[in-house]
Amino acid sequence: MPAQAAVRRVAVVGATGSIGASALDVIARHPGRLEASVLAAGSRVEALVSLCRKHRPRHAVIADAARYAALRDGLREAGLDDIEAHAGDDALQELVAGDACDTVVAAIVGAAGLPSTLAAARAGKRLLLANKESLVLAGELLTAAAHEAGADIVPIDSEHNAIFQCLGAGSREPGAGSRDLRRIVLTASGGPFRGWTRERLRGVTPAQAVKHPKWSMGPKISVDSATLMNKGLEVIEAHHLFRLPGERIDVLVHPQSLVHSLVEFVDGSTLAQLGLPDMRTALAVGLGWPERIESGVAGLDLLAHGRLDFEAPDPEAFPCLRLAYQALAAGGTAPAIVNAANEVAVSSFLQGRIAFLGIPALVEDCLAAVAGGAAGSIDALLAADAAARDHANQRIAAGALA
Ligand code: NDP
Ligand code: MG
Repeated sequence: MPAQAAVRRVAVVGATGSIGASALDVIARHPGRLEASVLAAGSRVEALVSLCRKHRPRHAVIADAARYAALRDGLREAGLDDIEAHAGDDALQELVAGDACDTVVAAIVGAAGLPSTLAAARAGKRLLLANKESLVLAGELLTAAAHEAGADIVPIDSEHNAIFQCLGAGSREPGAGSRDLRRIVLTASGGPFRGWTRERLRGVTPAQAVKHPKWSMGPKISVDSATLMNKGLEVIEAHHLFRLPGERIDVLVHPQSLVHSLVEFVDGSTLAQLGLPDMRTALAVGLGWPERIESGVAGLDLLAHGRLDFEAPDPEAFPCLRLAYQALAAGGTAPAIVNAANEVAVSSFLQGRIAFLGIPALVEDCLAAVAGGAAGSIDALLAADAAARDHANQRIAAGALA
């Protein structure tokens, strides 16, 4: 009889979010093989306790240190005394780097995810990376840290997971040389406003922008999909994961969201990965790799779907994609500036403080106005991130983008 494989102990960081829910769904399908040993959230204690009740981790972490007592008491009241409560960013970093887990699902939204993602990479964990902003902000440092510590990064973003699969998961790791690749093509759904003119986009409300036609996701990435900034961030993400220059990363709008991305090799072969738009597939690839495991996602019935359409993105209506390519070409801290400006812009848009078209306007303004520099250290990157946030907040306070 083959030896029983060790149980993979998984830290789900951002457990209360959309990716967190999908990861926990897949983990729960494989008792004896996968265990959610650490669950971490930002500030929503009740949601975290309720996940603890269901998934029985060994550790629960709330990043907001002020919520420690609430978490401890919540676990006690739920009769979950055997789950250890922790709070604060340092505790989170220690847990993802320590013995409590061998695999980390990095699913915090935004640059806030960088410290724990980096801690997991430095500790040599298998890193299931959904938190694309950490790659945009500090891609070189993060991939170098993972390489040095022997951490395997499995991209969870569906496009990058598709490319990871097309490159031959198991025989080739992401970033392991691109000699035989001609280019990669990231597909984009086009978001809820595909085909809209710039004029029509003026009156877009937050409620319209978070209603994605194909994917069910958290509010920030939903707005990013609506502006196409999500695809821009993904171009930068792909650059770091697969070591390709921007000129060899193309974007194609594919409204059905069934082809998740394509890889073109030098011999003219194009490989694509297809499947229903459900993040559990990508998470199962990461959790099971190099084996394939059940994800709960049905197979693809192409006959029922009928057709696959492709079109070019509209740079006039959706300038964020161009701005991301521009930042990638500029290099250094420019992607960090774009990412930070976009985070401030999206959050202000969701609060009704700026208009939808204020998002690209603010990103463009920050990219031009905030001085860029070399991205040699985390400190330099965080300083650029802070400078961009300051500048963006000043512009919003001045009422320039309402
Ligand atoms: P959600 O908004 O649904 O969830 C965000 C999670 O992050 C929540 O658990 C939240 O906790 C936690 N969080 C927020 N701020 C902090 C913080 N400062 N410290 C610790 N935890 C924090 O986001 P998504 O799940 O949609 O997205 C997560 C990441 O995955 C993003 O980077 C996104 O771009 C990427 N991604 C998502 C996809 C999707 O289908 N959703 C697809 C591809 C990529 P709390 O609930 O307590 O606030
Ligand atoms: Mg994606």
